[in-house]
Amino acid sequence: MALAAETQSIVNQFEYTDDDVNKGVKEFLRQMAEGLEKDGTSLSQIPTYVTGVPNGTEKGLYMAVDLGGTNFRVCSVKLNGDGTFNITSDKVAVPKALMVAKTAEELFAFLALQIKKFLEKHHGDHFEAHIRRRMTVSSPEGYKDENVFRMGFTFSFPVQQMGINKGTLIRWTKGFDIQDAVGKDVCALLQQEIDKLHLPVKVAALVNDTVGTLMAHSYGAPGSHGAVLGAIFGTGTNGAYVEKLSNVKKPMVGEYDTSTGEMVINTEWGSFDNQLNVLPNTPWDVVLDKQSVNPGFQMYEKRVSGMFLGEILRLVILDLLKNPDVSFLKDDNSSTNDLRSTTDIAETSSIFQQWGVDSSILSVAAGDHTPALTLLRKGLDDNLQIHAAAYEDAQAIKSVADAIGRRAARLAAVAIAAIVLQTGKLNDPAHKDEPIDVGVDGSLVEHYPYFREMIHEALSIVDGIGKEGAKRIRIGLAEDGSGVGAALIALVAAGME
Ligand code: ADP
Repeated sequence: MALAAETQSIVNQFEYTDDDVNKGVKEFLRQMAEGLEKDGTSLSQIPTYVTGVPNGTEKGLYMAVDLGGTNFRVCSVKLNGDGTFNITSDKVAVPKALMVAKTAEELFAFLALQIKKFLEKHHGDHFEAHIRRRMTVSSPEGYKDENVFRMGFTFSFPVQQMGINKGTLIRWTKGFDIQDAVGKDVCALLQQEIDKLHLPVKVAALVNDTVGTLMAHSYGAPGSHGAVLGAIFGTGTNGAYVEKLSNVKKPMVGEYDTSTGEMVINTEWGSFDNQLNVLPNTPWDVVLDKQSVNPGFQMYEKRVSGMFLGEILRLVILDLLKNPDVSFLKDDNSSTNDLRSTTDIAETSSIFQQWGVDSSILSVAAGDHTPALTLLRKGLDDNLQIHAAAYEDAQAIKSVADAIGRRAARLAAVAIAAIVLQTGKLNDPAHKDEPIDVGVDGSLVEHYPYFREMIHEALSIVDGIGKEGAKRIRIGLAEDGSGVGAALIALVAAGME
């Protein structure tokens, strides 16, 4: 079979039709409702104890720290009260030895020390004044200081949240393994070490990065009445949205402010439809899942997020290479190439290694409008050691990559559409014609060309949204969710003390 025909048949398998999108949205709404009723469902729908979003008028100086994986980031954020902010931040790599330390104390003492260094460097006056005041107070327990920094703690590991600044670690991921910390309240662990150093800092809020994105976008979106959704499309994908408190049927253990009638919910949508009721499932999705560390889990994430899109493309390329009936990346296609005389793939090419293809090559493919696909062919050469790919080969790779990217964007639209419908904002006469803001973050949505446009196109065909509804949905990049977003949650939490 000719390469073009085989490619077309693969592309067809990645097609996610308008009808599929609508079925997906209905199922997403069903699984959202299920998750609000009980635990242990596909969408976890975790209450975050954050009961409102900012509107841009918030003011003050707050701190934020972020332990996400390789780095620990410390920042202070000055909220100016007009939707703008100034941020000062330092970043330090977490020593490998501490990621697998014997005790939690070792890691958290290191984190507290970085906070101390940050305060000495950037807020010396504040720090000194606090130490002086503190020395004149006889009973530290009774000590209250308006100048104690309220801090938001972004902790990107699975936690069972028990309150706005309380949450126990369920398990470590991303190379961390300190058994001593599992089951403990991570905010308390950090506060203990901060207190040992007598720092003027209170861990006011435990922050999920999607909630940070939601808060940051609510603060910063011009003329906004607050965003309805914060979503991440990076290594993984997840979203947090504002739900009516009356819809949260399952019991909540911690205390919270009921006056707003709202609760921010962390959907954990990466695991949407693990049962595969509606998600597409090509042969390459099946292989990817089987070879993953968590088969059967995070099924939505495995079709949508940056960590997986490159791997899907890799599996298709391997199949094309193995197919005896098509000529793909073989010398006989090379006549039209202008890089070298013959195509060759290094034996060590990352195409032969699991996870060897980074999703950024999909962005290169999508953005390459040159007549000879020069950019993509250079990308294949530089990143995958596929030298001198012929135009026909590059065209095949581009078609498949575009199909994978387009499917991901349309699947992303499923989650966004369902949440917009769930909020009821489109039909609320009190908010007629107002924009509906969605804050997004992550390399995929930031760098993949036309990702947001493809989401919009899919939103416009959703029953109950339509062209007019889609026009009202503004998808904007949220600025620095783990910094300003975490600071804003610390502010909300401080108001509840
Ligand atoms: P994280 O989600 O870990 O905070 P990012 O938002 O930077 O970090 O996302 C990293 C993911 O995005 C990786 O999986 C990477 O493959 C993917 N990625 C990085 N650059 C691009 C790009 N230009 N186009 C598409 N995906 C990208």
